[in-house]
Amino acid sequence: MKSEKRKGFAASPGIGFGSVFVHRLASDFIFRETIPTVAVPGEVQRFREAVQRSIHELTLLKEGMEKGKGKGAGLIIESQILLLQDEELVRTVSQTIEEEKVRAEWALHLLRRRYRDLFQEMDNEYIRGRIADINDAFNRLLGNLNGHSHPCPEAPPSLPIILVADDLLPSEMGLFITSCRVAGIVLMKGGSHSHAVILARAFEIPAVIGIGPISMENLDNTDAIVDGTVGEVIFTPSLKVKREYGNRKEQFSRYIESLKAVRLLPSRTKDGVPFKTSANIELPEEVEMALSYGAEGIGLFRTEFLYLFRPTPPTEEEHYKVYSRLVSEMAGRPLVVRTLDVGGEKQGSLFAIGREDNPALGLRAVRYFLKEREILEVQLKALLRAAREGKIKILFPMVTELEELRELKEIVETLARKEGVGREMYDVGMMVEVPSAALLMDQFSKEVDFVSVGTNDLIQYTLAVDRANSQVQHLYQPFNPAVLRLLAMVVKEAEPRGVEVQLCGEMAANPLSALVLVGLGIRSLSMSPLSIPLVKGTLTSARSSHLRAVAKEALKLGTASEVRESVVENLMRRCPGLLLKNPKPYKPGS
Ligand code: PEP
Ligand code: MG
Repeated sequence: MKSEKRKGFAASPGIGFGSVFVHRLASDFIFRETIPTVAVPGEVQRFREAVQRSIHELTLLKEGMEKGKGKGAGLIIESQILLLQDEELVRTVSQTIEEEKVRAEWALHLLRRRYRDLFQEMDNEYIRGRIADINDAFNRLLGNLNGHSHPCPEAPPSLPIILVADDLLPSEMGLFITSCRVAGIVLMKGGSHSHAVILARAFEIPAVIGIGPISMENLDNTDAIVDGTVGEVIFTPSLKVKREYGNRKEQFSRYIESLKAVRLLPSRTKDGVPFKTSANIELPEEVEMALSYGAEGIGLFRTEFLYLFRPTPPTEEEHYKVYSRLVSEMAGRPLVVRTLDVGGEKQGSLFAIGREDNPALGLRAVRYFLKEREILEVQLKALLRAAREGKIKILFPMVTELEELRELKEIVETLARKEGVGREMYDVGMMVEVPSAALLMDQFSKEVDFVSVGTNDLIQYTLAVDRANSQVQHLYQPFNPAVLRLLAMVVKEAEPRGVEVQLCGEMAANPLSALVLVGLGIRSLSMSPLSIPLVKGTLTSARSSHLRAVAKEALKLGTASEVRESVVENLMRRCPGLLLKNPKPYKPGS
């Protein structure tokens, strides 16, 4: 085969060498087949048995995945188990079999189509990605209906493989990870928020997605290289190319090691001012990786994941298990858990928000939960129960007015009294994501223990620029002086009242803006785990007195480009080499 280089998206960093294993999709064709009335009860029974077999298989798979590195990755499989355990699913399919007198396969196919249509309409890529989970569970069911269980990968057990597929379902991914050595993953499709990609990152397997269609003929067992740091795949590389990527692989390992070494540095600027770098996570199994990159705490656990792709919201017990595990793994380090931030661009079929003309300004986050108090209370009760085992900082998203915050606090305090959880076991904080929260910080800071600035949204709402609309991305400027002035205002009002200010938006992950943030007086930054070493390394080589001066200058300016120029020029002058000394930032998925 001729050598070929393909470009895609870098979805999980690292460089992997291996032998191609093509994973082909099972046929998706299902025909409508009618059955005689007498055969209906048997058909329903056949379906029920397939459901039970599928649940059993998924449970085994989940147990397998929870061993070793992927501890907790089983959560993804758990959501499929829950789907299949839903009586409503069994009832709907059985009813179709009975009423239409059709084979179970067809009844299942109709239901799958309904789910697909429902999810396809969602604007959010992340939610649409959940179709993969549904397909995964349904494919298994179909397999079991036909008497053969889900296909197991027949990969060479000892050779490291480069898994090539059109797209990959989470449980397929789980099977591969647990049954053979996966050195890299290449998907022709795939979204950067898909569960398969999340798993690749959690298991530290290089992945490139979205390379487009390729001919899979004669691809099996050929050599390939996956460069998940830049998003390249080389099929049948020459010796020269192998050598070149071998060097890159070594360089990358050294780079990662050198970054990890930063972990051991004390978190102080050159002139001794302490700061803190924590991790933003979305899955509990990311904790291990976050700690290995030097996270001093979890600054933001986005709990949205717990609610996605489920027929009903998680029970108190399900919530509790996750939080209790996090408390135990964090072993006394700070742990911030944000209550569900639904609405806006984060829609979910579970929530009866309905169609809104302007969802970003609609029934979002705590606005929704103050209407649907039961869902909020279940989450809060579980958080408080887990807080008995170790302190939890409870964070409320999208707070816009004082009454809202007071009502939320009242709910927490009442529940804490009922659960017998002392005030010292939990903190209450709010996200600062809308200008009103920043502008009224003198008032808000009398009510909370800490605040966490969500610049992703704060920029969107301050500048009236949709954070996900590529047509207006040129206006989405973190260095817009209006944004910086709001940040300065938050620090000025919160700090003297003893309220800790943390920042957990993407601004914290960029070394240049992190320097400005520390200059503005924000000492606690939370970001994706992979960004921590770079930001920490940058901050330890700067003097806070210089950073204060840089930020002071920036606050006097009128445009984002003036700020950027001034910051870079000022830093070059005051701390030459600071920005040059550091390696280029690694941007997941870029
Ligand atoms: C933010 O808005 O900056 C933030 C961290 O929250 P999310 O990105 O989840 O909206
Ligand atoms: Mg936000």
